[in-house]
Amino acid sequence: MPIRMLNGGQIDALLPMSECIDVMAEAMIALSDGRAQLPLRTILRLPKNRGAFGAMPAQLDQPDAFGLKAISVYPGNEGSRWDSHQGVVLLFEPEHGTLAAIMDASRITAIRTAAMSGLATRLLAREDAGDLAILGSGVQARSHLDAMRSVRSIRRVRVWSRTPSSLEAFVVASRAAGVDVEAMESAQAAVAGADIICTVTGSKNPVLQGEWIASGAHINAVGASLPETRELDSAAVKHARLIVDRRESALAEAGDFLIPLSEGVIGDDHILGEIGDVAAGKLTGRRAAEEITLFKSLGLAIQDVAAAHWVHRKAAEQGVGQVVDLGGTRHAS
Ligand code: NDP
Repeated sequence: MPIRMLNGGQIDALLPMSECIDVMAEAMIALSDGRAQLPLRTILRLPKNRGAFGAMPAQLDQPDAFGLKAISVYPGNEGSRWDSHQGVVLLFEPEHGTLAAIMDASRITAIRTAAMSGLATRLLAREDAGDLAILGSGVQARSHLDAMRSVRSIRRVRVWSRTPSSLEAFVVASRAAGVDVEAMESAQAAVAGADIICTVTGSKNPVLQGEWIASGAHINAVGASLPETRELDSAAVKHARLIVDRRESALAEAGDFLIPLSEGVIGDDHILGEIGDVAAGKLTGRRAAEEITLFKSLGLAIQDVAAAHWVHRKAAEQGVGQVVDLGGTRHAS
């Protein structure tokens, strides 16, 4: 049973952002058409408040693939040598049900999550949106900078982060990569007048307030993924056209939606639909230049499986990765 093992560097090379955005579009359209299966993710909250462990299985008809992401989320790893999201994506070959690949989940997660925001921005932001604000400066901040530059002509980037040394490191790394980024002293200063706002923090409480958001802005809300946590205050959600990655997940997991709902600030009907519906042309995203659009991202296993399938196909074609044999194939005696 040969299994291809792919590390983070190999995944980076095989999954450029622009390709991943198109892969995500296909996967989300498949979800919106009912051509995918995925239960809500199973999350174990680990003792001693260390973090969480998630199991995320999914199956897609097109591409024909199924698999599982097993990932630990340790927010305390921020700023250390350990990623806050670590694990593997297991990709199976559907013909015989054989395990085909094992991949680093950190890089798949970093790229596919930003690619989802890239897709949402491509579909929902104004065509002329070029002033970008990023709140947060970790792994997702870096991949979101890449994603936003893939879908819009970005002319200005402002970043705010809670810890000055993290902010400084982000600015230095971005400039070294050829992107000029302005470090801002507050989230409010970062988002003032911005056309696109990405919230990519581990915060449990709002870092973005509705009164700061300019008309016509598009927001990608990526960080909070539990019913009791959120990055946006209720006003920010109330005044926006809200599109989610998946309705069932938002109803179960998105504090950004559930908290204003529980306060009576918004109603059940505030979720207009899923991004796959917008991608498929079944739902209108932005209707006017002055509207505020909001994409709430929770992250779905089909995104991991679709990205892994893409990476695996290219890796096999190019002979990239280490092939190991675990045995286990039945042989005629
Ligand atoms: P990192 O650990 O790399 O970075 C975390 C960032 O969050 C840092 O910039 C940190 O800022 C900031 N932060 C942490 N706590 C706070 C706080 N209380 N207030 C303000 N800022 C805070 O994580 P990632 O970049 O990988 O992930 C960012 C978020 O996105 C996480 O919440 C993660 O769970 C979520 N995520 C969502 C996915 C999705 O599909 N929707 C997928 C993957 C991740 P500083 O260093 O300045 O303190």
